[in-house]
Amino acid sequence: MERFDLYIDGAFHPGVARFDSRDPATGEVWAAIAEAREAEVDAVVAAAGRAFRQGAWPALTASARGKLLLKLADLIETAAPELARLETRDTGKIIRETSAQIAYVAEYYRYYAGLADKIEGAHLPIDKPDMEVWLRREPVGVVAAIVPWNSQLFLSAVKLGPALAAGCTVVLKASEDGPAPLLAFARLVHAAGFPPGVVNVITGFGPSCGAVLTAHPGVDHIAFTGGPDTARAVVRASAENLARTSLELGGKSPFIVFADADLESAVNAQIAGIFAATGQSCVAGSRLLVQNEIKDQMLATLTARAAKIVIGAPDDRATEMGPLCTPRQRDRLHAIVEASVAAGAVLICGGQLPEGPGTFYPPTILDCTNAPEAPCCREELFGPVLSVMGFADEAEALHLANDTEYGLASGVFTRDLTRAHRMIRGLRAGIVWVNTYRAVSPIAPFGGHGLSGHGREGGLAAALDYTTVKTVWLRISEEPIPDPFVMR
Ligand code: NDP
Repeated sequence: MERFDLYIDGAFHPGVARFDSRDPATGEVWAAIAEAREAEVDAVVAAAGRAFRQGAWPALTASARGKLLLKLADLIETAAPELARLETRDTGKIIRETSAQIAYVAEYYRYYAGLADKIEGAHLPIDKPDMEVWLRREPVGVVAAIVPWNSQLFLSAVKLGPALAAGCTVVLKASEDGPAPLLAFARLVHAAGFPPGVVNVITGFGPSCGAVLTAHPGVDHIAFTGGPDTARAVVRASAENLARTSLELGGKSPFIVFADADLESAVNAQIAGIFAATGQSCVAGSRLLVQNEIKDQMLATLTARAAKIVIGAPDDRATEMGPLCTPRQRDRLHAIVEASVAAGAVLICGGQLPEGPGTFYPPTILDCTNAPEAPCCREELFGPVLSVMGFADEAEALHLANDTEYGLASGVFTRDLTRAHRMIRGLRAGIVWVNTYRAVSPIAPFGGHGLSGHGREGGLAAALDYTTVKTVWLRISEEPIPDPFVMR
């Protein structure tokens, strides 16, 4: 049995108790995880507050902060195979995906390492001749970073990188599901030599840990990734401390294919867009909107490819799709598939609970052309389930695409450049991918609107989000300030 501890104020702690972590592929308990509750949350926020105000961290130059981030990036790169093993074991995400993603996570820290000493203030051409006025960009303070279980190292990098570059300190809360890779990541933070309290990593349950953290008076900014219901609880909690919030939530992203598209590319991108990561991706292209002329052909090709997906042990490099992370997740997803069929969606493939251990679920395709209100077209499933609808023309494609409360990602496949531009303008989504899907980079902002949240991760804007502006007034006149009560 492997053991993972909390990381608070530069030291490893066993927590108030330990809970089991199960391997989603086998259902076996494989790790004992330290749990944080209210006392640990108090201690960790106090440590982050101290580290923000006193000691080595506020005394470091921005360039020195950047060098620490570079060191962390190198350590992540070296440890990537071990981190990938842990994430695969704890979450069921396949080793091919965790290996590639974690190697790329180092690039996020490098990008923000480079930005650390480029977060500049400004000088104002003020309307008073005896004054110099300038703006300092200062770190906002203690950041509570909360991530879900899917892609935890990646989702925390897009918070820690900019927050640390800006000079904040961070309490990172891993999900109670699959927390091992983030608790192991804390060992790299320690090895990189960050001063105690600058980066802390804890885990625990939503009500006894996450809720306490988000309402804590010592927290200045909450960077949250998760579902809309939890986001609402986070926003309510922030009414206590009036912390800033940035919310990266889910999606119900349209994947739109016009009849003139390169069909082979569209099929491959759609397969990756919905079945990669077993569909547990916030940007999953979970609604295929396909022009009526090619609908049957596209469905037939997709179904044939879906049937060939190799489902199996996540640590086997031949596996193309692993299990879902938790039984809870699979039960919810299956119930929505059944309710959608009852509402008139036609099951093209999948949709059956497999026998045997593990939380596996087959690639599932539902034709919802005559059931656009089926729950699978409305709710984020966070699993390998594709809802398909046909459309006649551009106007109908846009109408269907925007007919959602979410607004995270979208994809358009067409060879017609002017149509692509019209779609880009019309789509209500934070990301539009044209003739590609699921591409990400530290340089490109990422986020959505509506039920998909607000704020952007990635790019320079994310680092500025962790700063606050201080306005400085300096009087340069040699003349004494006149007595305000003497009439002149
Ligand atoms: P949840 O919203 O259930 O959980 C997210 C995190 O919040 C977990 O760490 C959870 O802890 C914690 N939490 C739970 N309750 C509270 C609370 N009351 N206060 C503070 N924190 C709390 O999300 P899921 O785990 O179900 O993750 C899937 C969701 O995340 C999907 O909707 C998905 O789309 C979204 N997501 C969004 C991404 C984006 O960038 N836009 C990227 C990836 C996922 P615990 O698990 O311990 O309960």
